[in-house]
Amino acid sequence: MSAAVSVDGKTRLYGILGHPVTSSLSPAMQNAAFAALGLNAVYVPFPVQPRQLPKVARGLAAAGVAGFNLTVPHKLAILPLLDEITPEARAIGAVNTVRCENGRMSGTNTDGEGFLLSLAHDLAWQPEGKRALLLGAGGAARGIAISLLEKGLAALHIANRTPEKAEALAADCRDLYPGAELRASGLEEAPDSAPHLLVNATTVGMGDGASPVELARVGVREALLDIVYTPPETPLLAQAAALDLPHANGMGMLLHQGWLAFRFWTEREAPLEVMRAALQEALARR
Ligand code: NAP
Repeated sequence: MSAAVSVDGKTRLYGILGHPVTSSLSPAMQNAAFAALGLNAVYVPFPVQPRQLPKVARGLAAAGVAGFNLTVPHKLAILPLLDEITPEARAIGAVNTVRCENGRMSGTNTDGEGFLLSLAHDLAWQPEGKRALLLGAGGAARGIAISLLEKGLAALHIANRTPEKAEALAADCRDLYPGAELRASGLEEAPDSAPHLLVNATTVGMGDGASPVELARVGVREALLDIVYTPPETPLLAQAAALDLPHANGMGMLLHQGWLAFRFWTEREAPLEVMRAALQEALARR
């Protein structure tokens, strides 16, 4: 996507705050959406050191910036700076999208809903009454756990390299969803019974040629979603293909969280296929 952007006094500015942020695919996706709908808006990356976040976020809102995304390491640190937080972001305990109006900042979290939309669209999978094994207990895993339980998942096993972090996340989930069956463990411990869904929310597979688990030992029944998207086929996804297990990478989650963020900012339906094509093109250029 290399359409010329015409900037004038009415151009609305959006962006993404992260550290590092130079390799973000969101500018390609959001600028393609603005162009497709003929909106006078641009989206740019802002590299922001952790200690600079309060100054930068308040400064952007005061300067009339219309909204921004947050990526690592700012999704939690933004919370005390916000004037309003949606119930879903409060339950997840992290914000990835902020809308600014008259200097006030409202935050939401589109990662969890984006993950659910990817499960539904890419794998035709619904959580209600099912069992899942979630690998990882970091920021992304937290949003995924809460979103799955919110949609009626019956049992969730959280497995993490550092088991204490899995236990802490499971404890928070038990408080919020007392009817669900929660278990926490290290990565290598097998689930009690074969899960319907496996989700990888660790960084394993991101260019390290490694897999967080040996899939044949887990016995996943229905689907696998690896939220890593670079490379597009991780060793875990290759194992799923070899076992004929329906699977998808993290592109769908990235796409849908961006699609939801666009709607939160503009209150317009975002052009999903335009955004998907822009993401694929940006990835291919890497
Ligand atoms: P994070 O908060 O830093 O969490 C990292 C997770 O990976 C932790 O559970 C960590 O375990 C685990 N981990 C790291 N290195 C490991 C290793 N060598 N062996 C086993 N486990 C390891 O990161 P995050 O924001 O949750 O992101 C996690 C992944 O999801 C990243 O690859 C990110 O790109 C991807 N992601 C994708 C999307 C999307 O839209 N598709 C959105 C968000 C994130 P410990 O607790 O033991 O350190």
